[in-house]
Amino acid sequence: MQKPQEIVLAEPRGFCAGVDRAIEIVERALQKFGRPIYVRHEIVHNTYVVNDLKNKGAIFIEDLNEVPPGATLVFSAHGVSKAVQREAEERGFQIFDATCPLVTKVHVEVAKLAKEGYEFIMIGHKGHPEVEGTMGQLSEGIHLVEDVQDVATVAPAQTERLAVVTQTTLSVDDAAAITAAVRARFPSIREPKQQDICYATQNRQDAVKVLSPQVDLVIVVGSPTSSNSNRLRELAARLGTPAYMIDSAEELRHEWFDGIARVGLTAGASAPEVLVKEVIARIKELGATSVRKMDGVEETLKFPLPKGLKIDAATGL
Ligand code: SF4
Repeated sequence: MQKPQEIVLAEPRGFCAGVDRAIEIVERALQKFGRPIYVRHEIVHNTYVVNDLKNKGAIFIEDLNEVPPGATLVFSAHGVSKAVQREAEERGFQIFDATCPLVTKVHVEVAKLAKEGYEFIMIGHKGHPEVEGTMGQLSEGIHLVEDVQDVATVAPAQTERLAVVTQTTLSVDDAAAITAAVRARFPSIREPKQQDICYATQNRQDAVKVLSPQVDLVIVVGSPTSSNSNRLRELAARLGTPAYMIDSAEELRHEWFDGIARVGLTAGASAPEVLVKEVIARIKELGATSVRKMDGVEETLKFPLPKGLKIDAATGL
């Protein structure tokens, strides 16, 4: 049996600016206001991150009924609907919004164009919290399409003022194909100046496109609920490289490495680097002797924290 020899690391991989900010919001809220801090939905879709914050005093809930009066509440990076936002405000919670600013940008665009009488086609995955949050910016006039087939049957009430928006973490190639079908059916549809798929999703998928042909196997570190991690695994498989997604090093199976010389490794935008390090250590135990970093785009974007969470240097609070 041939053992793995080399690990090739995708660049960039792992945490994006929106995930960094969302986790920091919960940590700072814990530091400033003490435990517990309530978080609506998993702050980001990663088991390790959620368990770590639970240990530090965060309580994750889906329903605002689970939050006691006067509590501090954080909205997850995926964003929330207007109805959830309104209910949280009416109940008087102290709210910190960890919605990624790139998701908020889509919400703002939807609200602005809706005022001008636009209806929307949203490209995304049904049931994903980001899709629920974006569609929930309006009470009507936003229609979900998940694939090219849906485009043929979607039925907006009018077509003169129609705009398209997308979930930020889609497959870039699938979204392009669905957008082309939308454009073919509604030629005058308004498209965003800059695509809604975010820079982190685009960069991680671009990196997998470079990585896949160089390796015999791709491992994606990410949780099953993570949309962008799933898309990385699918992309590698589509490019003809066997690919597996794992939540932690314990999920690696030694039989995956039979006859494999080079292993490509990447991580979704919500997967911490500590998990990548554990996977590297495990693959080294299976025989790999070298680790090579791919060249890739350097990401420097950082989002500011919401007001009220700055830590005073003098008091630490
Ligand atoms: Fe924001 Fe993109 Fe990261 Fe989602 S994946 S949190 S949209 S930067």
